[in-house]
Amino acid sequence: MRVLLSGGAGYIGAHTAVALIEAGHEVIVVDDMSNSSPEAIARAGSLAGAEIPLLGADVRDEPRVRAFVQQHGPVDAVVHFAGLKAVGESVAQPVRYYDVNIGSAVAVLRLMAAESIPTIVFSSSATVYGRPETLPLREDSPTGIDLANPYGKTKRIVEEMLKDAAAADPRLRAIALRYFNPVGAHPSGRIGEDPSGTPNNLMPYVARVAVGSLERVGIFGDDYPTPDGTGLRDYIHVLDLAAGHVAALERAREGFEVYNLGTGVPVSVRELIAAFGRAAGRQIPTAVLPRRAGDVAASYCDPSKAREGLGWSATRTIDEACRDSWRWQSQNPRGYAPSPR
Ligand code: NAD
Ligand code: UDP
Repeated sequence: MRVLLSGGAGYIGAHTAVALIEAGHEVIVVDDMSNSSPEAIARAGSLAGAEIPLLGADVRDEPRVRAFVQQHGPVDAVVHFAGLKAVGESVAQPVRYYDVNIGSAVAVLRLMAAESIPTIVFSSSATVYGRPETLPLREDSPTGIDLANPYGKTKRIVEEMLKDAAAADPRLRAIALRYFNPVGAHPSGRIGEDPSGTPNNLMPYVARVAVGSLERVGIFGDDYPTPDGTGLRDYIHVLDLAAGHVAALERAREGFEVYNLGTGVPVSVRELIAAFGRAAGRQIPTAVLPRRAGDVAASYCDPSKAREGLGWSATRTIDEACRDSWRWQSQNPRGYAPSPR
């Protein structure tokens, strides 16, 4: 099939582009480059051995995106990655987050109606579960739009919109994938996560400390009710995540479905830092800091629905994710930015 990736030059999009092409599909990308670089798509194309058509535009620019789709189409499916993703920033700039995250999903659904594209896979997030009442999290665990941050609310609202759109159009195939914590990089070391400024997420922060561009990792609380007192998360290798998108596109059926994409294995902050230290062959300096506002003690999924419904499950370990993240970070200490002469 031919798949349009909105936000396809980003971290998860670039890895998914490679996985889709390797699985025999064609990919075209629209990305406004607000958090990425055309270099990511050039490298993804060279890894997969294909030229990836790229439109540098906001996905809400409907005339340009339609013309691009008509030029390279027909398109069979959209994976909608495009959006803003920093939880803290979404609290400070809520209107911008609603504007981009909801506006871009509306634009994609309008494009699909105009161009008769039947299938959408949407990047949702484990954030929609808010503070878990019970663990592991299942797709039928409580969610709400009454979440602590606007980012999570935008994901929840877009899920609701997809559900309503599928109810109104019985031909629509819509899947929301609730990602747990994506980590790692392509094993080639050619593509990976390239956050601008100081990373908010644990793994890229640890990677920057390991490479020497940040001094130490702050551990946000060691007094949680967990085995070593630090937070537990479900870290999923980005290649497993990419494979989950391929499975979702190939298995999509009429209607709306939600799937967790995670490993089901909880890993603590201290365990992740230790694994990264082993992968990098160096000690990672740490300091215990107070808990970060809004954090939950533990979040991990029951991945059985994706195994049964999509025939997909994660296979890679946290050690592989650390090894691949380290390879990417050490080979590209400045990310996709050109090296200084
Ligand atoms: P990313 O920022 O690397 O990728 C998003 C891409 O969308 C970027 O390339 C950015 O330039 C582009 N973009 C943003 N607004 C756009 C617009 N209006 N039009 C066109 N392009 C636009 O992020 P990612 O980590 O690859 O995440 C992809 C998706 O997965 C996002 O929707 C994110 O919310 C979701 N998600 C990410 C995580 C995570 O931890 N990385 C976890 C759960 C869900
Ligand atoms: N964390 C930390 N130091 C950091 C960044 C994160 O101790 O510099 C912890 C955080 O409290 C949480 C885990 O690492 O327990 C994962 O945080 P991240 O921001 O990567 O993901 P999320 O909070 O979205 O699950």
